[in-house]
Amino acid sequence: MIDLKNLTIEKAHEGMKKGEFTCTELVDAYLKVIKEKNKELNAYLEVYKDISEQTEKAQKKFQDGSATLLTGIPFAIKDNILFEGHIASASSKILENYKATYDSTVIKKLKEAGAVIIGRTNMDEFAMGSSTQTSAYGVTRNPLDPARVPGGSSGGSAAAVAADMALVALGTETCGSVREPAAFCGLVGLKPTYGAVSRHGIIAMGNSLDQVSPFGKNVSDVEIIFNTLSKYDPEDSTSVPEDLRVSKTKTNSKKIGVPWHLFENGVEEVVMQNFKESLEKLKNSGYEIVDIKLPHSPYSLAAYYIIMPAEVSTNLSRFDGIRYGYSAEGKNLLEVYKKSRGQGFGKEARRRILLGTYVLSHGYYDAYYNKAIKIREKIKEEVMQAFQSVDLIATPTVPILPFKLGEKMDDPVAMYLCDIFSAPANLSGVPSMAIPSGKTKENLPLSIQFMASHFAENILFEVGKKFETIR
Ligand code: GLN
Repeated sequence: MIDLKNLTIEKAHEGMKKGEFTCTELVDAYLKVIKEKNKELNAYLEVYKDISEQTEKAQKKFQDGSATLLTGIPFAIKDNILFEGHIASASSKILENYKATYDSTVIKKLKEAGAVIIGRTNMDEFAMGSSTQTSAYGVTRNPLDPARVPGGSSGGSAAAVAADMALVALGTETCGSVREPAAFCGLVGLKPTYGAVSRHGIIAMGNSLDQVSPFGKNVSDVEIIFNTLSKYDPEDSTSVPEDLRVSKTKTNSKKIGVPWHLFENGVEEVVMQNFKESLEKLKNSGYEIVDIKLPHSPYSLAAYYIIMPAEVSTNLSRFDGIRYGYSAEGKNLLEVYKKSRGQGFGKEARRRILLGTYVLSHGYYDAYYNKAIKIREKIKEEVMQAFQSVDLIATPTVPILPFKLGEKMDDPVAMYLCDIFSAPANLSGVPSMAIPSGKTKENLPLSIQFMASHFAENILFEVGKKFETIR
C-alpha cells in the first residue's frame, strides 16, 4: 500500500527509483481513489484513456536512467489547458466536444519530463468564478467537507489533490484562481510571476493576467513543478527571456510587510485570529513584521472587474458557432451567432461578455477601461515601491472560510470579494503563494499568502518551507 496521504514528489521519485513500487502501481493507486470518490466530488470531468501509454514511457525512463523528478508523477490538469488529442472544454457547453489539436507548452514540458497526466478537472466556466459552481458540468465538492465549495476557478484540480486523486495538479490564475482553492482545500498554490510560465495553449480568459499555476501538498512539490515549467517560450509573446528574469531580493530575506489597512472590512474573525498567530510565529523565528501602505490596492478588485471583462469579451468573441465548438441552427448568420453564443455560454460568461463589451465601447472606453488601466499602473507602482523596503508582503489568502454550496450564487459581488487579497499580485504581475496555516475547530482549512517581487519565487519557497516547520 502506497501512503498517498503523505506522498510527495521526492518520495514518489525515490520509491520508483528504488523499485519499491512501479509507476503503474502508483497511478493505479490514484485511479482506485478516483473510482471511489469522483462520483461524489466531481473533481475530474474525464480520466484519460491513454494513461497506460504514458506510464510505459515513464517506466522506460526509469529503466534507461533518464528519469527526472517529475517522471511518472501523476498530474491532474485544469480543463483549459490544451493536451493534443484530448478534449479541453473550459467547462463550457460551447467547447463541449473541442479536441485540442496541439500541446500547450506546459503539457510539452510535462511530457518531456515523463509526467503522467491522469485527466482534466472541473473549473468555473472559462475560469470565471471563485467556487467551481459556474461549470456547465456540475459543481465540484470540497473533499474536506462535501457540503462546501472547493474554491475556484481551479476547484477541480484542488479537490483532486486534496482527495488523493492526483499527487499534484495544474490550474490557472487570472485573479486568485489557484491560491483561493488552495486555501479552501488545505493545499499550497503558487501564482508565478507574470511571464514566467508560458501561456501558449491555455484557453485565454484575461491575457494580461492569466498564468498557469501549480498545486501541491507542500512547498517543495510546487517548487519542483515551477522549476520545470518556468522557461522562456517564443510561442508566448509575453514570456520573459531568461536574461531578464532577475530578482532584486536576496535569499535569507526576513522583512515582511503587512498592509493592515486592507483588512478594514469583511475579514472573518477566525481568519484574522489565525493570521495574527501566524505572524507571531514568524516573528519568533526571526522575521521582522512591519506595517506597509498600498493606498490604491483597495481599488484593485474594481480595476480587475473592468480589465478582465474587457479582455474576456475580446477573447470569447472567437466562439461564434461557426469555426468550432457548439453550433445552433439559425435562419441566417446572425441568428446562428446569437443562438450559438446565447445557448453555448453560461450566465456568468454572458454577464462578463456584456460588461466587457460595454466598458470597451465608444464613449465609455475612456471612462472605464482607460481609468482602470491607470489604476492598475498605480497599484503596480505601489507594490514595487513596497518591495524597496520589505522582502515579502503577507495577508490571509482569502478573507473568509470555504462556504456552503449554493451560497453567494445570487450575489456576484459577494463572490468577487473572495479575491480581495489576491488581486494586487495579478494586477502587478508579482508572484504569490498560498500556504496552509492551520484549521478551525470545525476542521476547515486556513491559509496565509505571501507575495514577493517579480521573479523572486525562490524567496516565497524559502519562507514557505520555513513556515511549514513552525505553523
Ligand atoms: N474569481 C476570479 C474571477 O471570477 C478569478 C478567476 C481566475 O483567477 N481565473 O474572475
